[in-house]
Amino acid sequence: MYATGGDIMTDISSSRSIAQLYEADLTWVDGRFQRDVRVAVDTAGRIEAVGALDGNVTQQLKGKALLPGFVNAHSHAFQRGLRGHGETFVEGAGSFWTWRKAMYELVGRMDETMMYELSRQAFEEMLAAGITTVGEFHYLHHDASEAGFAFDDVVLRAAADAGIRIVLLNAYYATGGIGEPLQGGQLRFGSRSVSEYLDQLDALAARMTSQTQSLGMVAHSIRAVPIENVMILQQESDKRGMVLHMHVEEQQEEINACVDHYHHPPMALLNEHVAVSSRFTAVHCTHSAAADLDLYLEAGGNVCICPLTEANLGDGLANIPRMLHHNGCVCLGTDSNARISMLEEMRWLEYGQRLQLQQRGVCVDDAGQVAPRLLEMATLNGARALGVRAGAIRKGAWADFVTIDLDNAALRGSPDESLLAALVFGSGNDAIAGVCVGGRWFDF
Ligand SMILES: [Zn+2]
Repeated sequence: MYATGGDIMTDISSSRSIAQLYEADLTWVDGRFQRDVRVAVDTAGRIEAVGALDGNVTQQLKGKALLPGFVNAHSHAFQRGLRGHGETFVEGAGSFWTWRKAMYELVGRMDETMMYELSRQAFEEMLAAGITTVGEFHYLHHDASEAGFAFDDVVLRAAADAGIRIVLLNAYYATGGIGEPLQGGQLRFGSRSVSEYLDQLDALAARMTSQTQSLGMVAHSIRAVPIENVMILQQESDKRGMVLHMHVEEQQEEINACVDHYHHPPMALLNEHVAVSSRFTAVHCTHSAAADLDLYLEAGGNVCICPLTEANLGDGLANIPRMLHHNGCVCLGTDSNARISMLEEMRWLEYGQRLQLQQRGVCVDDAGQVAPRLLEMATLNGARALGVRAGAIRKGAWADFVTIDLDNAALRGSPDESLLAALVFGSGNDAIAGVCVGGRWFDF
């Protein structure tokens, strides 16, 4: 519902909480672009009101369309350092596992400076791609001493300096494979025990003061965390009111190892042992069996798909129609950051399915439209998975926006009704004119 103009005038004159009043040519509200919409933002960086508001516009966003800022629900920022590497295959076909070897080599060379610079680079590229919130799935905790969690603060500092909103999804990592000790680069990921991990999490929580930073929990994967510990982490995340993320069924080899050890694939194991809810996000689910996925989605679990990374690593294609059939909450992540573009993630989620199913229009909403549903994945659904009030231009949400340049060549001539589809299917990061994170603007 829109606030009335009268209400907002009273607000502006009687209290000083309204800091800014924005007006773009077009604003994405209630699932479509609308004209003559103003957005009031308070001094805390939250949206105070949206609609035909009175008052002096403090920022006229002329020639721009205003969208909610994109939410990147799954990133490993340091992997930005692998971009362009490992794309030569002299010994024949590579795989996820040969890529992982290259990633471990990068881990072995990582010091604080490199970790900061790669993370900051990735976060700045995200802002330029319209991403205002990142869920940083952070498992590279230690410097060469293999203890001390020094890199946790480094990532938070890089995010603060770049200006992006971050949910630090801090990872618990205990085994090098199911029942195997950590080896080599993995020693930089490990916690000695669940209690050491929780102590570090709580120490970070106590230091977290910025409004643009919050914490979530992670069980890295069934390869790295015994199911008994996943259960403990889930209970602890409930106690703290934090989200819990986990890599699930990205690779067939992981599923085979899990069946060998536990006699069930990872998703079935989770359904049986863990209280899945809307606070739980399974990342990838590339090879999940339909029946396991059904149970997981019915319990309210979120799924994060990372189309560009899954393509780059040759993972395969997830069963998106099944997820959508259950009205499942699908969100998007840039994962390995081999390419950072949320517009391309949206486009390729749909295109991968079109190629596989040989049909057009897979991620459709009730009106048969694709682009609004993809945008929902890139905004609201990501915000739900990360537990942040963002992803929509409405009262109470953080004032996180992306502005689109309506003069961009790729968008020229698009009528209001098809502008979003033109953006998602026909344009790139250069159509993004700026972003706003909690009321702070960045222009590109
Ligand atoms: Zn990942």
